[in-house]
Amino acid sequence: MQTAIEIIKDAESRGVAVGHFNISNTEQLWGIFNAARSLELPIFIGTSEGERAFIGPRQAAVLVQSLREQFNWPIYLNADHTYSLEKAKEAVDVGYDCVIFDGAQLSMEENIAQTKEFVSYVRETRPEVLVEGELGYIGTSSSMMDELPEGAAVTREEMTSPEEAQRFVEETGVDLLAPAVGNVHGMMESGRNPNLDTERISALREAAGVPLVLHGGSGVSDEDFVSSIEAGMGMVHINTEIRVAFREALEQSLQEKPDEIAPYKYMDQAVDAVTESVANRLKLFNKLDS
Ligand SMILES: [Zn+2]
Repeated sequence: MQTAIEIIKDAESRGVAVGHFNISNTEQLWGIFNAARSLELPIFIGTSEGERAFIGPRQAAVLVQSLREQFNWPIYLNADHTYSLEKAKEAVDVGYDCVIFDGAQLSMEENIAQTKEFVSYVRETRPEVLVEGELGYIGTSSSMMDELPEGAAVTREEMTSPEEAQRFVEETGVDLLAPAVGNVHGMMESGRNPNLDTERISALREAAGVPLVLHGGSGVSDEDFVSSIEAGMGMVHINTEIRVAFREALEQSLQEKPDEIAPYKYMDQAVDAVTESVANRLKLFNKLDS
C-alpha cells in the first residue's frame, strides 16, 4: 500500500488531487469511505480540534486504521488545523498519520519557530507522520457565511508569496504547505467564493518544493478546482459542503420517519448523502467522468 506522501506525490504527478474530507462521527466516516471505495481512490479523513474532541482523538485514529487494515485501503487520518503544540503532539501520540500545525495567525517568525519545534518532535517520535504548515490567513470557520472572514488574505498583495513559501519550507522542514491563494474557509451564502489565483499557485509550488494543499474547497467553482489542481494543488480539503449534505438529509429523513427511534434507520440517508457529495468532488479532483 502506498504511504500518505506517496499518494499525494503520485496524484500530483498525474495532474489530479487527493480528496480530504472532515468527520466528527462514524456516519460521516462511512459516507466518505464508501465514496472512495466505489471510485477506487485513496482518501484522507480530517478532524479539526472541535471535531476530534467530539469523536475522540484516539478513537478517530483507531477507526481509520481499522478501515485501512480490514479493507487494505489507502485511507489516512489528518489532524486538521491544530493551533497549539500541545494538541499537535497529542495527535501524533494517539496515532494520526498527518498533522496540520496552523500558525497562520502568528507572525512569520513565530510561525516558523513553532512549526519547526513541532517538526522536530515528529521526527524524533514518529518520523512517518506528515506535517503540514500554514502560511497566510484564510479564516477558521466551516460554515455558511454572509461575508468574507475578517483579515483573510484574498488580494494578490496579501496572498502567500513564493519567497515566503520557500523560506518557510526550508526553515521548518514541513512535508506539505497550505498557502493563501484567494481561498477562504467556509462557504459564501451568495454561492460564490473568491476566485483562486492559479498563477500564484504554480509559482508557489515551484518555490515551496513540497506538495501544496488547498483549504476552503467548499464553494469553489468546478473550473477553479480543475485549474488549481493543474497548477499544483496536490490535495483539496472539503468540509462545509458535506456538513450541509449531512444535515439536509437528516432533516428530511426525520420528517419522513417521525416515529422512528433507531438511529441506524433514520441516519442511513445522511450517510448516503455524504457518499454522493464526496463522490462528486472526487470525480472532479480525479478527472473522472461523472
Ligand atoms: Zn482548512
